[in-house]
Amino acid sequence: MQYFDPPILDKLVLKKANITMVEMISIEPHESATPLNCLNNVREYVAINGGQIQLGWIFSIIGNLALKLTAHAVVKKDDETLLCVTPNEYRNNRLRFSPDNSIEHLIKNNHLPLKFVPLIENSKLDEYLDIERDIDKLRLDNSGVVSAIEMQYMNSKASVLYHSILELAKEHTHKNDYCFCGSNKKRKKCCR
Ligand SMILES: [Zn+2]
Repeated sequence: MQYFDPPILDKLVLKKANITMVEMISIEPHESATPLNCLNNVREYVAINGGQIQLGWIFSIIGNLALKLTAHAVVKKDDETLLCVTPNEYRNNRLRFSPDNSIEHLIKNNHLPLKFVPLIENSKLDEYLDIERDIDKLRLDNSGVVSAIEMQYMNSKASVLYHSILELAKEHTHKNDYCFCGSNKKRKKCCR
C-alpha cells in the first residue's frame, strides 16, 4: 500500500494535523527544475525572477488511516501569489499547499522533513508510522541517503505489519470513499 494524493481533504483530517489553511496553487516548473529538489528549484527561480522562498506542507494519505505531510518549498511572488516550480509525477498543474515558515528549523543539510499523522487510534498503525519516522530520520541525518542495508532492515520491519495495515484500510474505507489503493476511484468501483 502506498501514499497517494487525496482527491479531497476534509477539515477533520486537517484538524488532526493542526492545519488550518490550505490553498490550491499552480505548478509551473521551469526548464532546469528537477523533481524532489524544491529548495534549489525555488532558489534558482528567485535568483532570476525575484520573489521569496515560501515553505509549507503538501499532503498525501494512506488508506483512510494516516496523513503524510511533506515539507515543500514554493515561490512567493512579489504580488503574494504562491507558485510551485518543481515538477512531480503525481500532480499535474495544481497542488494543495499549506504555508508554514517554521519548517525552516526542521531543514537538515538542505533536506526537508516529513510528518506522519495517524487518523485512527491503532497500535499497529502507530508501529508502522514509527518505522516511517525512523526512515525519515535516517534520510535527514545522512544527507538524503538511506543505505540499502538500512532500508532493507526497515522494509522487513514494515512488511510484518503490512497485512494488518491493509486490513485496517479496508475496514476504514467505506464504499463511497476513495479507494485505499490510490486509484482515484470510489471503493465500490474498485478493490474489495
Ligand atoms: Zn482500489
